Amino acid sequence: MISVTRLPEPSILTQKKEKWLAAFLKKRESKPDASPHSKQYGHEEIRETLETMSFHKCFYCEQELGETEGQVDHYVEVAEKPERAFEWNNLYLSCPLCNGKKSYNIKIPVSDCLDPCDISENPSAHLSFDDEHIIQRQNSVKGAKTIQKYKLNRRQLRYLRLKQLQRFERFLRKLLERKNREGRKEFTLLEKEAILRFKEPHHAFSLMFNVYLSGIEF
Ligand SMILES: [Zn+2]
Repeated sequence: MISVTRLPEPSILTQKKEKWLAAFLKKRESKPDASPHSKQYGHEEIRETLETMSFHKCFYCEQELGETEGQVDHYVEVAEKPERAFEWNNLYLSCPLCNGKKSYNIKIPVSDCLDPCDISENPSAHLSFDDEHIIQRQNSVKGAKTIQKYKLNRRQLRYLRLKQLQRFERFLRKLLERKNREGRKEFTLLEKEAILRFKEPHHAFSLMFNVYLSGIEF
């Protein structure tokens, strides 16, 4: 998880949110467990804006999302706050698994966890890594609860993170071999930039690379 900066509300939402919400709340009067229409809150324009915000990654686990994989997610569940069903600040982008784990772990309130859209929070102060395993940083309770709520150490994610680490190692080895072959003591500026690109926000699991690259001197 990294901080995500919110873009302005998509125009479809500005135009339709009141109408959509009124219809949804009315439906709930006769059917209390009714869900809002995913075609409305998950409208293409809304999903695309969220994808741009997160560089096509899940807000929670930072894995890259394919064309149709991203799900528009209610940060505060609709069951808890139906009046927030079409509120722009309550719409996040999630991979199917984080979305599923999140509602399954409903006993852990989101208020106990890191909020990727809260710019006052710094996920790297709460989360760290041990190889491909995500761990809480310095006994951060918030970090631990975030890992637990979204199951950030699930097997599929550990596998994807391990693959990325192996990719990085192969890349670094190639650069080191070239540096040695050319008898250089240092990486070139371009090589340093290429290494640091792994921790930029557009990269999958950039928080993990931030942790690993922060201690390395070039
Ligand atoms: Zn995810």
